[in-house]
Amino acid sequence: MSDDLLEHLRATVGGEHVLVDDADVAAYVVDWTGSYAGRALAVVRPGSTAEVAAVVSACHDAGVAIVPQGGNTGLVAGGVPDASGSQVVLSLGRMRAIRDIDPVAGTITVEAGVVLADVQAAAAGAGRLFPMSLGSEGSCTIGGNLSTNAGGTAVLRYGMTRELALGLEVVLPDGRVWDGLRALRKDNTGYSLRNVFIGAEGTLGIITAAVMRLFPPTPARATAWVSVADVTSAVALLGLVQAHAGAHLATFEIINRAALDLVLTHQPGAHDPAPGTDWAVLVELAGTAGLDASLEAALGDAVEQGLVEDAAVAGSPAQRSALWALREGISEAQKVEGATLKHDVTLPITDLAAWTARIAPTLEAILPGVRLVTYGHVGDGNLHFNLSAPVGGIASDDALRAAAGELSTAIYDSVAEASGSISAEHGLGSTKAAAAASYKSDVEVDLMRTIKDALDPQGLMNPGTLLP
Ligand SMILES: Cc1cc2nc3c(=O)[nH]c(=O)nc-3n(C[C@H](O)[C@H](O)[C@H](O)COP(=O)(O)OP(=O)(O)OC[C@H]3O[C@@H](n4cnc5c(N)ncnc54)[C@H](O)[C@@H]3O)c2cc1C
Repeated sequence: MSDDLLEHLRATVGGEHVLVDDADVAAYVVDWTGSYAGRALAVVRPGSTAEVAAVVSACHDAGVAIVPQGGNTGLVAGGVPDASGSQVVLSLGRMRAIRDIDPVAGTITVEAGVVLADVQAAAAGAGRLFPMSLGSEGSCTIGGNLSTNAGGTAVLRYGMTRELALGLEVVLPDGRVWDGLRALRKDNTGYSLRNVFIGAEGTLGIITAAVMRLFPPTPARATAWVSVADVTSAVALLGLVQAHAGAHLATFEIINRAALDLVLTHQPGAHDPAPGTDWAVLVELAGTAGLDASLEAALGDAVEQGLVEDAAVAGSPAQRSALWALREGISEAQKVEGATLKHDVTLPITDLAAWTARIAPTLEAILPGVRLVTYGHVGDGNLHFNLSAPVGGIASDDALRAAAGELSTAIYDSVAEASGSISAEHGLGSTKAAAAASYKSDVEVDLMRTIKDALDPQGLMNPGTLLP
């Protein structure tokens, strides 16, 4: 049966694009963190929407499950197969065409496998801005961004991926193609179908192309690394900068000392802009002119109000890059350091400071010495609340793994009590699907299952991801 399917897939996409050897599939079956490894019946790499549709249709008829995959940078093990060896990984990696770009309408039409940095570059080449920015932008794809409804460092000003999408082309679980590639800002003609597929993590179909919004360029930047005593001061500083800079505030990222120390240890050439301080905020204004004055006025007020301990304003593009490298290097540095337990939570902004203070002793009681590597998009109420093992090598890594369930449950319970979310922007994948369902009402889980069952009655699209 599987031999027949593989022969059919080879005839559809070409033998060289159906990978079955261990060495060839290796990169597709292990997630970015290296913590989740599965096995695949095959990795299939179609090159067009028609080929995706034919592959999905063949798998549907054979009753074989599909795991869609873009850049494989997801952090919740949603894009890698399970251990059964029975699933097909469908990689969008060959679908890299930019089909259209219209600077006047402010739209770009791209295939799902286009890497985010290439969308940004194409927009810039046409004198426009595609604002989404993630640490993984050199590898993640627009299809993955849409499927996870990715956030990143520009959400404060431009919104999540959902807010940047106008139209989609989707291959449905039975192989039919929905052409919803409309570039309309106004279209009230029924249910918003595109929003069903955005954030669906490949459980309802395969996104093959999208129309995304472009914006006027913001060539001027004012960037500062601001040291603050605690999260309370960071949140107060956010209010001040918003008051001074309004819509020019593009980025407001918090970083704690543990996170910064990991980057200083593992990133060659990294330099501490403010040694000895516990928390820092990377603030960036973006626009066309007059930003330095706004930033200086905001920081001046913050100093007067005692909110700021120190501030380093970038005086050149190189200095700006060095500050950004500290922020963008945290995930990689933490991975190099050893075992990691990742959480991606949102809380009401007004509760962020109290929550971080409240949860720390609980975690210390569960695993003494556990390191709280806290950073993220504080302007969106979103913290990457990642734990590293206590200092101490392999035995400590094992201790973190052994305590993982208890630590995560304590964090999730506490987030739920504070009316927050246990997944702000990374999605649920297979690692958080069960936990998320347990915090939702029966009505909400039932609505999600109804949508899944209606579109994918055989349950072949990314089973075990998003819904337990
Ligand atoms: C260093 C680093 C920094 C990161 N920073 C951020 C950040 O700031 N904000 C943020 O939100 N995320 C961040 N991420 C997580 C990750 O990059 C995003 O979730 C990204 O959107 C995933 O894109 P991808 O192409 O790699 O998708 P993959 O990892 O390949 O897949 C992710 C999910 O989408 C599904 N999928 C992929 N493509 C398709 C498709 N075409 N159709 C249907 N389903 C599909 C997969 O099945 C899987 O469930 C970061 C990751 C790393 C490694």
